[in-house]
Amino acid sequence: MNKLFKQGIKIANILEDNGYEAYIVGGSVRDLLLNRQINDIDITTNATPEEIEKVYKDFKQIDIGKKFGTIKILDNNDEFEITTFRSEKGYSDGRHPDEVSFTKSIYDDLKRRDLTINSIAFRNGEIYDPFNGKKDIKNKVIKAVGNPEERIKEDALRILRAVRFSIQLDFKIDNELKEAIKRNKNRLDLVSKERINEELNKMLIANPFKTIKTLKELDILNNIFTNIEIKNINKLKNIDKDIHEILAIMFLTNNKDKVENTLRDLKYSNNDIEVISQIVENYRENYSRYELRKMIFNIGIDNSKKTMEVFKIINGKENDNFEEILNNNFPKSRKEIAISGDDIKKLGFKEGKEIGSILKVIEEEILKGNVENDKEKIKNFILERIFYENF
Ligand code: ATP
Ligand code: MG
Repeated sequence: MNKLFKQGIKIANILEDNGYEAYIVGGSVRDLLLNRQINDIDITTNATPEEIEKVYKDFKQIDIGKKFGTIKILDNNDEFEITTFRSEKGYSDGRHPDEVSFTKSIYDDLKRRDLTINSIAFRNGEIYDPFNGKKDIKNKVIKAVGNPEERIKEDALRILRAVRFSIQLDFKIDNELKEAIKRNKNRLDLVSKERINEELNKMLIANPFKTIKTLKELDILNNIFTNIEIKNINKLKNIDKDIHEILAIMFLTNNKDKVENTLRDLKYSNNDIEVISQIVENYRENYSRYELRKMIFNIGIDNSKKTMEVFKIINGKENDNFEEILNNNFPKSRKEIAISGDDIKKLGFKEGKEIGSILKVIEEEILKGNVENDKEKIKNFILERIFYENF
């Protein structure tokens, strides 16, 4: 059995030894049954938060939400979240429970969980599975615990969690849940953009093609991506797990402003926004050698490689010249230009603006191959050019 899960059993047994019930629940039990990598272990118990603290007094503890019954303990640097059995009610904002109360029953705790596959509990070597999650794992189906319509109305995030798990696990979404999602799709407005971002990223990285296909089928693609054209969906079949390349391919036909606004609205980081919009802006069906050099110079090696990866995915073949240009000695950034503003000043130019525009011309001429990136040669080039014409 999985090492982390075994360690979880050891941790749960400490509660058992003190006379409490302790179940491992949620994602780790699901992933154990699916033979998938287990990331974190959640334990649920009838012990109160104070009792949990007492039982684990020899462990390092982090209070991450004692009010809601959760205490995190550390064992060999592994974290275990231990939560008192909870039930939840009243979801007036369509996203969070108004009231969380502690309960004495594992059944109630499992009942508040979203999907049958996430509502399986494990105790003393046995599975407790009142909502038939194991059967749904076997049949590869995503099903809500209880009435899907009600469960979505309580918390609209469950729409995206259902989609995300169906994509990560390659499971079908049960028909009744599917219909409830379609009927309640506008409730996605109640979910914060941060949480949409989180779920969206997980699904896109797991399988971008299937993500778009599923979101379309459920008619929620436009609820997530408002006001931007999504193209090249078939090309997403061939892509690696790079979120920048995935989003750039999807947005390739839109202008820079639209791409940036959409990504900003979806709470992507400034770095993500910059990388993705640079790929979109620099993508072309053909590149001259000069255009390749200029791209590398302007957006750097890493982003250029991503742009070329997108080129390859769209066109089904590599760009012939990129590797060679990457390996030749044209300057790859402003830093690598062999002459500085100071050097130009020493030639007798004074104004900052003038020096700046000379540097720009020089960069361009070097990238075009009209002058070598060598200080003396550049100096001569500048002086010659002044002789004939002005900058
Ligand atoms: P992973 O961590 O791999 O994304 P997970 O199932 O562990 O999957 P978490 O978000 O860590 O997901 O949640 C832990 C458990 O809490 C879930 O397995 C589920 O039982 C429950 N849960 C999480 N979010 C919700 C929700 N919005 N509504 C109901 N139950 C939820
Ligand atoms: Mg988890």
